[in-house]
Amino acid sequence: PTGRTLSGDAFPLTPNPHPATDTERAALMTDPVFGKVFTDHMARATWSGGSWGDRGVVPLEPIPMHPGAAVLHYSQQVFEGLKAYRHADGSIHLFRPTMNAERMIDSAYRLAMPPLPVDDFLAACAALVQADQRWVPEADGAALYLRPYLMATETSLLVQPSDTYDLVVTASPVGAYMGGGGGVSIWVSRGYHRANDGGTGEAKTGGNYAASMLPQQQAKENGCGQVLFLDAKEDRYVEELGGMNLMVVLGDGSVATPRLSGTILPGITRDSVMTLLADAGRPVRERDIEIDEIREGVASGAIVELFAVGTAAVVTPIGELRSDDFALTVGDGKAGPVGSWVKKELTDIQYGRTADDHGWLIRV
Ligand code: PMP
Repeated sequence: PTGRTLSGDAFPLTPNPHPATDTERAALMTDPVFGKVFTDHMARATWSGGSWGDRGVVPLEPIPMHPGAAVLHYSQQVFEGLKAYRHADGSIHLFRPTMNAERMIDSAYRLAMPPLPVDDFLAACAALVQADQRWVPEADGAALYLRPYLMATETSLLVQPSDTYDLVVTASPVGAYMGGGGGVSIWVSRGYHRANDGGTGEAKTGGNYAASMLPQQQAKENGCGQVLFLDAKEDRYVEELGGMNLMVVLGDGSVATPRLSGTILPGITRDSVMTLLADAGRPVRERDIEIDEIREGVASGAIVELFAVGTAAVVTPIGELRSDDFALTVGDGKAGPVGSWVKKELTDIQYGRTADDHGWLIRV
């Protein structure tokens, strides 16, 4: 499967008549704040009358919307996040984009939205990256973050699925999501949960993130960069962070991660990290993990490393765990050997520094 190249032909380009000048772009691309800088174009398509049409790449501009548009009221929307990486030879590659396309179909199903075919998802991403390739950073750790989303556009205050939808894909040059080599501090949210059984936790939909804002704010007030959510039923098992999955390294060298219970996002980085660890003879156990096991394990040394994994944050060491009633330093509070190893393995593949044995990259 290596050497595949994606075509963006299905999304014809209408060039932006006023693209950023090279000087403007260089300034915007210098140390961009995550998700604050956007390229010259966006990909679009619309769903109406039971099919997708109006495919194209057009100048980035505000999207006019009726104040009664369904998405503004009942949040019928789903989204994805993936990156385009520039290799040393200048070529540009997407990392496992088919998994994002398939996850968006699963998310759309849960929100009663029409699926966007995998080929359209891939072509929209490819066409946008091709149009805005000068925005793909060269710096190590930097990439072009793609944000595809579907939203309900019908003008209606009825609580029912919309009959029209927009696909939009935007692109943002990004650096490392969380700076520094030190570990991030994590706030364990008690009382507030992100998702419950039968809810939308395993879908990538805005509502899940809306529910995470207040605990995220509390984390910040307590000096923590991220929230760790527990299960809603018993407040007992660890689930995931606001935008990342969790990996736990035990003293015997084994690695565990919360199983896909239906209330957490099936992360593509999670899957990739599990594959790389299994390749290295360290299969990751997917299981229920109690917060008490983590508390006691970190305190006793039975747990030696915690790290978080996701597209934006890649592999981020967790240096500290805090809540209302405890504060614990994980290991020496810095990046541990397993997380550091897997981060290097993963990014070496993404940036083309090592062989892509799994065929995870698709060239655009
Ligand atoms: N959990 C949540 C809640 C997320 O938003 C993300 C980011 N998409 C992840 C996990 C990690 O998923 P991925 O590795 O596919 O980016």
